[in-house]
Amino acid sequence: MNYQCEICHYIYEPENGDPESGVDPGTPFNELPGDWLCPRCGIDKSSFEMAGSDAKIPKGKDPLLIMVQGLTQGLWTICWKWILFSDPSNWSNLPGRTEIQGI
Ligand SMILES: [Zn+2]
Repeated sequence: MNYQCEICHYIYEPENGDPESGVDPGTPFNELPGDWLCPRCGIDKSSFEMAGSDAKIPKGKDPLLIMVQGLTQGLWTICWKWILFSDPSNWSNLPGRTEIQGI
């Protein structure tokens, strides 16, 4: 079963896992570590909801959109890691955990 982030609409697909965060392919959503965060926006697991297997991002439909999404995700991942490793006290100030949750 896939799960989708309510914030950024990232789809967690168990067959792919999240190798960037050390999650092996084949890991069901409910076996993800409790501190796992959305690789795209950084929200925690509680903001994910079940998504049907057909709720995939329409790959191939709009190459520009896919490219922009990929770029955004890549930049965010870099920024997130940079902030985290340069000054851990910034971690709680990251957007996505509280601010975005209220929308
Ligand atoms: Zn997200």
